[in-house]
Amino acid sequence: MGLPLLSKYLNSDGEVICPSCGSVMVARIASSGTYYSGTKFWGCSNYPDCRTIVNYYDENGYDFSGYNKRGLNSEGLDSEGCNLSGYDRRGFSKEGIHFQTRSKYNPQGYDKEGFDRQGYNYFGYNSSGFNREGLDRWGNSKETSLITSDTDGTRNNITSDSDSNNRGELESNISYEPKFKYHDGYDDKGFSKKGYHKLTGTKYNRAGFNRDGYNKNGYDVTGHNKKGFDKNGFTERGINVNTLTAYDPHGYDKLGFDKQGFDKQGYDLNNFSREGVHKETKTKFDNFGYDKYGYKEDGYDKMGFNRKGLNKKGFNKKGLHNITKRIYDPEGYDIEGYDINGFDIEGYNKLGFNSKGYHKATHTKYDPDGYDNEGFNIDGHDRDGRNRERREEIDNWRDW
Ligand SMILES: [Zn+2]
Repeated sequence: MGLPLLSKYLNSDGEVICPSCGSVMVARIASSGTYYSGTKFWGCSNYPDCRTIVNYYDENGYDFSGYNKRGLNSEGLDSEGCNLSGYDRRGFSKEGIHFQTRSKYNPQGYDKEGFDRQGYNYFGYNSSGFNREGLDRWGNSKETSLITSDTDGTRNNITSDSDSNNRGELESNISYEPKFKYHDGYDDKGFSKKGYHKLTGTKYNRAGFNRDGYNKNGYDVTGHNKKGFDKNGFTERGINVNTLTAYDPHGYDKLGFDKQGFDKQGYDLNNFSREGVHKETKTKFDNFGYDKYGYKEDGYDKMGFNRKGLNKKGFNKKGLHNITKRIYDPEGYDIEGYDINGFDIEGYNKLGFNSKGYHKATHTKYDPDGYDNEGFNIDGHDRDGRNRERREEIDNWRDW
């Protein structure tokens, strides 16, 4: 409303300077008053001599760290990297549910931590570092594994690295450089000086890898040979040895998709054909009712945005309105339907109280749980059992 804009009072050190007295301002949370409990603002450090306050958010609705009132940055992601609908860049919610499959697993079958339904990661190892045969990457079983029985303190961190985002890192952790530290004639991977494995008696361990970490076909556990190419000639980063591009001579990338994103059978990552027909449903929509482009029949995607990137109320993903280019629509309401004072079109705030302090459900000054607009019950205690004085003491000038 009438509050001075944050950006006008920032100095070069990134401090907010009081427009009245020039003191540094500090971030605070209101506990009562014009702005209902929980509202953030900049208050003069010279309080109570100076009672000037400045809007916590800039004119675009973002705070210092680039987050708006709803905790989203300009990309629409919160501090945990999740978007408005609560999904991270890999499409998982905080609870680990994938937005496309509505399950714990992404379309490729991996969960948020990078493990498949059987608990194995991209390279076939479970969170304890063992593959489906029960062997670690040196071919040792649980009983003989260095991962669990390591005593010299050099335990490799493969077991704790379960973030599939860090596949590159993980891959570089899987190195087979011989250490040539022999104990009872065998190195710590169980190979003798001549390269024979103590359990198999051959040059290959039980997982089929030799001392240098390559199988009989010359590929390591990640499927790459000594030169770093997989069987289709791609490097770990997806560059093809023949073309030096991301595509092989037939036009397919490391994952088997062509430039238009279709595999050899003509389906994209989400199992839609070029014509937009789904592999399983044989219709334009997948099992969840979304088309090739991720839109439902009504034209809106999972997040409630249409092809123009606008929701039904005309807001974009950043929470800016199509017409006003600000966080408020022409009527003055934000994407959640609240005006600058925190009231919705019916005049109620997020807690359900109107400007006179009456609750919409009870028509009294108390909500159905018996708490008023400021969170106190009739006895003057809040939900944590604190009384008004005690809470103001704690909250009113709480800096963070
Ligand atoms: Zn001041």
